[in-house]
Amino acid sequence: MATDFTKYIASVPDYPEKGIMFRDISPLMADGQAFHDATDEIVTYAKGKGVEMVVGPEARGFIVGCPVAYDMGIGFAPARKQGKLPRETVKATYDLEYGTSALYMHKDAIKPGQKVLVTDDLLATGGTIGATIQLVEDLGGIVVGTAFLIELSDLHGRDKLKGYDIFSLMKY
Ligand code: AMP
Repeated sequence: MATDFTKYIASVPDYPEKGIMFRDISPLMADGQAFHDATDEIVTYAKGKGVEMVVGPEARGFIVGCPVAYDMGIGFAPARKQGKLPRETVKATYDLEYGTSALYMHKDAIKPGQKVLVTDDLLATGGTIGATIQLVEDLGGIVVGTAFLIELSDLHGRDKLKGYDIFSLMKY
């Protein structure tokens, strides 16, 4: 029987602000078997897509993406906030509820033509993953799939990711 991963998600109302239901993945990461099984599901998806490199945005995209890359014996490259990467970078901006934010990757993080899986813990509006995809593509990578532990269906992140394949373990 398929694992019900939702029992490892802590739902916290009104965090970080009123009206937001925060989906906390910490209990899933803390349970060795659940973390292993969730990673395995994403690995199976990634193998089916011929993934050669994993990219995830700071910080929970690292938690989801790194074990996938390790299991597959392929590389991981981080997309980071301003001022974190020491060498030459590319930048992508995205909209927040108020204002904008930006993510950066090292210019040599992806080889042109490389097949990339983009990972994060959660797909909400799609802004974060959209910026990560833009960075990968600016570097000549091919985004063959995106993978999340959680998808918040009401926020229609999928609409922003038209044309990209999306895998999510849980939907709320
Ligand atoms: P978005 O850019 O709107 O798709 O938001 C996705 C990013 O924000 C992810 O990196 C999540 O970690 C975080 N996030 C957004 N909404 C939530 C939520 N309700 N619970 C937990 N994390 C969230």
